[in-house]
Amino acid sequence: MTTSNPDVLIVGAGPTGLAAALFLTQRHVPVRIIDTAAQAATTSKALAVNSRTLEVLRSTGVSDRIVAEGWAVRGGTLHEDGRDVLAFDLPPATDATQAMTVLPQAHTEALLTKALAANGVTVDRGVSFQALSQDLAEVIATLQHADGRSEQVTTRLVFGADGAHSTVRHALKLDFAGSSLPEPWLLWDVVMDTSLDAYRAHVLFERDGFIFVLRLGDNVWRVIGNTHDPLGTLRRYGSLGDISWESQFHIGHRVASQAGMGRVSLGGDAAHIHSPIGARGMNLGIEDAYVYADCAADALAGDMGRMNDYAELRHAVHKAVVRRIGAMTRLVHGRPSWLRWVRDEVVPVAGHLAFTRQLMMRTVGGLDHALKTRP
Ligand SMILES: Cc1cc2nc3c(=O)[nH]c(=O)nc-3n(C[C@H](O)[C@H](O)[C@H](O)COP(=O)(O)OP(=O)(O)OC[C@H]3O[C@@H](n4cnc5c(N)ncnc54)[C@H](O)[C@@H]3O)c2cc1C
Repeated sequence: MTTSNPDVLIVGAGPTGLAAALFLTQRHVPVRIIDTAAQAATTSKALAVNSRTLEVLRSTGVSDRIVAEGWAVRGGTLHEDGRDVLAFDLPPATDATQAMTVLPQAHTEALLTKALAANGVTVDRGVSFQALSQDLAEVIATLQHADGRSEQVTTRLVFGADGAHSTVRHALKLDFAGSSLPEPWLLWDVVMDTSLDAYRAHVLFERDGFIFVLRLGDNVWRVIGNTHDPLGTLRRYGSLGDISWESQFHIGHRVASQAGMGRVSLGGDAAHIHSPIGARGMNLGIEDAYVYADCAADALAGDMGRMNDYAELRHAVHKAVVRRIGAMTRLVHGRPSWLRWVRDEVVPVAGHLAFTRQLMMRTVGGLDHALKTRP
């Protein structure tokens, strides 16, 4: 069903764009999905697939593959000065909900790509979106091929899933207001022989910040931290081996001023970015894709008001989630010093309250808001 002049042009084949293509294809909508990159990404990036994502992907068959090829997280433990000060368990899988599952992002993307291919759609790689114009009837998008060739595509809708530096968002001249933390966060995927429970996520509160640790698979662990020497601290918990990926990134909390305009919409990192605390980035993008497909199918059937529904419904969710994750991040960050006091003294106590535990579980599961496809 890949067409050069499709009903929906999807820009970006990260998890958001792939999921949108899959949901639309299930509704028999002709799509074309393009990506600048010549090859699919191979880095692990987002590791946690939450319950909401598994719920929305269930009808595609991809949830079953994620659950079969990943592993379920049983809960989280908070450590301070080498002591366990708080532990909470995540709900196990039931008929209605899947447990939070760990699978590297590249693997999740490969499963989405395979499901899409089974529906006859492949990603058009080495093709970049450059610009667009739209009127009441259509959108004309200008694309650039890797060999320098330029192409104009006429389409009825465009979904911009082209990441944090979105060219589609720039083409709509939308603000991406918010703030960024000044210092970089450090990341490693590292072999670790440790006494830490391999079926739980671990957060270590340190004087100068925090360290997050989660097993990826076998004995490879993801470490993210903003302290002076996260790996040095972790040696208290075991011995470290080979590093398979090392990176650093800056944390921003930003929301596009609108999630769409007319026939052009935004989803995923193109519309919202925030820290990895709470594991929401990829998951919220896949949820955007699900809502987008529902609204876009109705719009293509003649109800263009559904594109406004998408923009309004998702903008409200984006603002609420980014606000919540931003607050959690500032707390875990523990700066300025009064916040560190709250973090070290209040969180371990408040974390035992039923209300706080519920809030934590709903946030991590992606279940802190209703999944609405209509206002
Ligand atoms: C180190 C790291 C760790 C992370 N950990 C987590 C985590 O634990 N949990 C979580 O939920 N999230 C995590 N994230 C965030 C998560 O990776 C992103 O939220 C997710 O990738 C967003 O998906 P996306 O499809 O919206 O955008 P992206 O994955 O950025 O995909 C955008 C795609 O668009 C393409 N593109 C860009 N411009 C154009 C153009 N002009 N034309 C055509 N194609 C274009 C790009 O090549 C890319 O393939 C992490 C991110 C990083 C960097």
